[in-house]
Amino acid sequence: MKSIDHFVNLLLDQPATKPVSRQDFLQFTSRSLAVGAIGSTLIACEKKPETTTSTPTASTPGGAAPKLPATSPPATVPAEQQKPIELEQIKAKTEQQEGDTPTPMPEDQRVGYALVGLGHLTLNQILPAFGACKKSKVVALVSGSPEKMQKVAAQYGVKKESCYSYADYDKLKDNKDVQAIYIVLPNGMHAEYTVRGAQAGKHILCEKPMANSAAECQTMIDACKKADRKLMIAYRIQYEPHNRMVRDMVQTAKFGKVKSIIANNGQNSDNPKHWRFNKALAGGGSLPDVGLYCLNTIRYVLGEEPTEVMGYIHSTPDDPRFKEVEEQVNWIMKFPSGVQTSCATSYGHHDDKSYRVLADTGWIKMDPAFPYKGLKLETSQAQGEVNQIIEHSISDKDHFATEMDHFSECILDNKIPFTPGEEGLQDQKIMEAIYQSAKDGKPVKLETITKKDAFRGPEPKAS
Ligand code: NAD
Repeated sequence: MKSIDHFVNLLLDQPATKPVSRQDFLQFTSRSLAVGAIGSTLIACEKKPETTTSTPTASTPGGAAPKLPATSPPATVPAEQQKPIELEQIKAKTEQQEGDTPTPMPEDQRVGYALVGLGHLTLNQILPAFGACKKSKVVALVSGSPEKMQKVAAQYGVKKESCYSYADYDKLKDNKDVQAIYIVLPNGMHAEYTVRGAQAGKHILCEKPMANSAAECQTMIDACKKADRKLMIAYRIQYEPHNRMVRDMVQTAKFGKVKSIIANNGQNSDNPKHWRFNKALAGGGSLPDVGLYCLNTIRYVLGEEPTEVMGYIHSTPDDPRFKEVEEQVNWIMKFPSGVQTSCATSYGHHDDKSYRVLADTGWIKMDPAFPYKGLKLETSQAQGEVNQIIEHSISDKDHFATEMDHFSECILDNKIPFTPGEEGLQDQKIMEAIYQSAKDGKPVKLETITKKDAFRGPEPKAS
């Protein structure tokens, strides 16, 4: 059994035998909290090889923050209210801690959201996530099914007069309870509903993929700028603690220089009648739906942008699901630092959502990496005669609550979101290059971008 000192030293990249000072411990705790992590478990350490064991420019996000008109909720959350209440210490510092006491905002100060589209994601993930939010509340619904909407409104306490049909969507303009619109519609509808939502004076949180084309993405960015509204793409992985910890390890070179990342996100999807198999509504097949997680997460953990892509596409002939959209895409990306990545996505194989970062002196494995919960992070590095594999225990956080609260914070404090429209546009440009490469049968070069995190806003606060 390893001592707490061992893990503190591991996280702080210090020799395992160094005595841990109070300052080290505090640094460990704050880093752990920032990624939601408290412990790491040694799961394999045996005399066998591991294989046998189990800022932007004016058009980019960091530009000057726009002024907000008076319809927004109070732009200041008193600092005192944001501080956790300190409780008397019960457990020894060497025991598992409870973390800070929650700091929820009172209902009347939270950002009010209108949810557009009452499908799987809204009903099973987003609406329940409001229960874990500290700064966000649901105040309005937009749906094509009045019966379903009535039921959902009753379940979540949404006023009858705040329920809208798609035809009445623009009437959200007059609803002062609504500051933000969360668009959870088929991909091909994101652009239209973003533009109309911004024109109605609301901030927009839009599901991924941002839209069906780079041109649509640009229209969405322009419309939100023109209306002086914020636009964020709901890349939940960039707000969740496991993937944030991977990014921290990569960017602090915990295992030396990264050489390669191998990522996969696929699932066996059914029902050829679903919009996901309709090109106009989905934009594409597995690539923009699930493959995008590989692309966006790799860009996120590296903080770099690819300079070249090579793609291959295959769809099973005569499968009714793949008349309009692709089944499977495999692609390679080259990055300025020399990292090469290999990704695969499919609608035709059993669920697999994982990636592995291969670096000089160790590897980082996320398996699974992209589901809503149950993510698992392992690392490996040599310790004398063995490869030591560690499973890092990190408490799950609700991805949607974390992401919505970040957007609410941006609205309340007038900040640029961490994943603004420009982040979604960049993914769209890269996906278009992957399709182009597969079509032409040759690599496609992309604009060289040397700035780190070129399309992201300021770091989210640790929540
Ligand atoms: P879904 O099919 O379950 O829901 C879509 C909703 O849109 C339904 O309520 C449907 O009635 C409504 N709709 C309105 N007009 C429609 C039309 N013309 N055709 C079809 N449906 C129409 O889909 P979902 O899985 O909830 O996905 C919605 C969005 O959320 C997509 O953009 C998807 O990529 C995204 N998504 C994100 C995540 C994530 O983890 N961030 C997960 C799943 C889905």
